[in-house]
Amino acid sequence: MKNKSNKQPETLLTHSGRDPQAHFGAVNTPIFRASTILQASMAEYKRPKGQREQRYGRRGTPTTFTLEDVIADVEGGAGCVIASSGLNAIALALLSQTKAGDHVLMADCVYGPARNFANKILARFGVTTTFFDPAIGADIDGMFQDNTTVVYMEAPGSQTFEMCDVPAIAAVARKRGAISMTDNTWGTPLFFSPFAHGCDISIHAATKYIVGHSDAMLGAVTYNEATEESVRDMAGTLGVFAGPDDVYLGTRGMRTLAVRLRQHEESALAMADWLWNRPEVDRVLYPPHPKDAGHALWKRDFTGGCGLMGFVLKEAADTGLAAMLDGLELYGMGASWGGFESLILPADPGANRTATTWNAPGPLIRIHIGLEHIDDLIADMDAGFTRLARASN
Ligand SMILES: *Cc1c(COP(=O)(O)O)cnc(C)c1O
Repeated sequence: MKNKSNKQPETLLTHSGRDPQAHFGAVNTPIFRASTILQASMAEYKRPKGQREQRYGRRGTPTTFTLEDVIADVEGGAGCVIASSGLNAIALALLSQTKAGDHVLMADCVYGPARNFANKILARFGVTTTFFDPAIGADIDGMFQDNTTVVYMEAPGSQTFEMCDVPAIAAVARKRGAISMTDNTWGTPLFFSPFAHGCDISIHAATKYIVGHSDAMLGAVTYNEATEESVRDMAGTLGVFAGPDDVYLGTRGMRTLAVRLRQHEESALAMADWLWNRPEVDRVLYPPHPKDAGHALWKRDFTGGCGLMGFVLKEAADTGLAAMLDGLELYGMGASWGGFESLILPADPGANRTATTWNAPGPLIRIHIGLEHIDDLIADMDAGFTRLARASN
């Protein structure tokens, strides 16, 4: 594409990273399977190589560069590294910005394994982590230590859907000389740009909406110019890599991301509305809904919402809950989300928290609203509430 700067995100999703004339006219960049990349001569072999020159399969091929480009272009970063999973991307981002003696500030609502990585691996190398209330905003300033180098956020948190004031927190981090990063899996490269809100690094479980079809695992770390060298250097040092078939599926998912997300959002909003009106429900956790506690922040910073949400029941014993969930026809019970299909899970958000407590009168149910017809999804959930009532009497 000749001029990216004047194009809308949907156009970038369609055109970024493609160069058909370089590949026999094929619309999509082919799947390059390569370990060894042959050099033409001794002089060529010995010549220092730029980031995207032919070197070695682990460093990527045009298959990888295509996905890097389309994510970075849509999200507004300087570039992107593709990792083997979302957790691999989290590890890369954190390791790229820390050294022994440093201190990390991490939101209390983050994805559990991110917290675990900080407590288990960073701690082993002399990096300490303090958790903060996601609602802290600019008051995070008071939590900075002289050695704080990273602020890590996730907005909204993928279990409790608490919003962070990302620009306020990122601005404090920048003033304090720390790097801010956010897990942007829920926002996707399309609906939230961490870079436009003052962050340095964005992390994705590309496994979710970027792949979008529940058939591959991938991660991505998008960076700005200030963090480009540190992220790329750590990726090269660790050997961060994803296989070409999975990377191809990630790129294929990106091409249709906008239309899929709009449908997920429309159905999720309808479901949130329906759930808010259920007598069994204490509250719905979906920032795009006007009744959500984080709606104002979401509306200010995001351009859309995905299909992942939660709801808290007023009360429910395990037997009633099992009757409700086990009988569902259209919602699969399983980890992950972002595919075309609906999912449901009982969540336990209180277990990991240290900075704050999770207050809820009953269990939290996390649902992913897929691309099924919303009437069928509501009818299935309605039957679930009937089973819950019956089992609870
Ligand atoms: C799933 C998820 C991850 C981890 O991604 P994997 O590809 O499963 O390793 C990270 N962050 C969030 C918010 C997630 O939902």
